[in-house]
Amino acid sequence: MSMLEPNHERLQNTLTVLSDADVGGTPGGGVSRPAASDADKSVRDCFVRITQGLGLQVRVDDIGNIYARRAGTDDSAEPVVIGSHLDTVVPGGRFDGILGVAVALETVALLNDSGIETTRPIEVVNWTGEEGARFPPAMLGSGVVTGKWSAEYAQSRVDAEGLRLGDELSRIGYLGEQSNRLTAFHASLEAHIEQGKHLEEAGADIGIVSLIEPVRWCTITVTGRGGHAGGSGPRQRAEAIVAAGRMVATARDLSLDADDFTTTVGTMKVEPGSNNVIPHRVEFNLDIRSSDDDTIARRLTEVTDRFGQIGREEGVEVQVEPYWEMTGPEFAGEIRGLLRRVADERAVKWEELRGVIGHDSLHLSSMGPAAMLFTQTTNGLSHCEEESAPWESVLATAGVYANAVLGLANS
Ligand SMILES: [Zn+2]
Repeated sequence: MSMLEPNHERLQNTLTVLSDADVGGTPGGGVSRPAASDADKSVRDCFVRITQGLGLQVRVDDIGNIYARRAGTDDSAEPVVIGSHLDTVVPGGRFDGILGVAVALETVALLNDSGIETTRPIEVVNWTGEEGARFPPAMLGSGVVTGKWSAEYAQSRVDAEGLRLGDELSRIGYLGEQSNRLTAFHASLEAHIEQGKHLEEAGADIGIVSLIEPVRWCTITVTGRGGHAGGSGPRQRAEAIVAAGRMVATARDLSLDADDFTTTVGTMKVEPGSNNVIPHRVEFNLDIRSSDDDTIARRLTEVTDRFGQIGREEGVEVQVEPYWEMTGPEFAGEIRGLLRRVADERAVKWEELRGVIGHDSLHLSSMGPAAMLFTQTTNGLSHCEEESAPWESVLATAGVYANAVLGLANS
């Protein structure tokens, strides 16, 4: 049943067109395209031009998501949703999000080439603001459609200059109607680069994603006693920064020992932050992730207990406040089964793996059966201009993707 063969040249061309200098491509070989920026407008115009050229019906919803619809023979049937996002971090690479849109466009082009009509409609979607780089939080467009946030909330997010997302979408001509939103789907499939080294190390062409690992973020506030660097010896102090340093190392050591969770400290705010002053307060964030929610909860309790113990030893006060969490969904078993079958038919080497980064499919999985396909990422490098993917893996992804979408659209 594997009948669609990706057109190398066209796919390469689509990837180039979606990351060229005129749509935010950087001289360093990456892409800088924050949501609702001028570069985002250019690439959206480009997406609309390509999809209209493929004969698709384009509409835009009230958070700027663009849907390009290919009619089904039963056009009232729930659609198959494909695509990804075209916004990037600054500077980002030429594959994150872009690859998922490109293979979705290639799928439609292949169906057109072969004159294949599918029972169900197919909708290629460019989700707004996946990265959250300019208007946090991340995955705003898919979050609004799946009811995680209201459109009012999403439209009122502001960037560093105080500009509202809703105003910026309107300025670039992509603030549409609520009635245009996706309301239901039969299946959703997103291709994405892995952004890690798992597939490369396993020598697999593609990854079939089983779930997205849950994540929790906490703020840890350590309050000690300030003072002049020359004013007291180490025994007389209550040093917030020393306690915080011990906590960072302890969290790492606990995760090394247990081997079932990972912690990362990415930011630290030291007050007052002066060469010759003992800081009275240190605030840092802790990112904790594991394969399941129960492990995260258990390990976070353990980490919190150890932080409390360090606080007592150092004579400082410690507060741990969780402020964000992402509950990882398990992706649809039927779609994963279909992906395995198609990959085997095409002699594509696949691995089942867990996702460790949020994607629009995470929100979509709360609305209907969703799944993801990963492409190898060279050296695991992502969110940088060097971001790249081996061409064989891109082609393998496109081939499995197109044929799986065809299967879904006729089921
Ligand atoms: Zn992405």
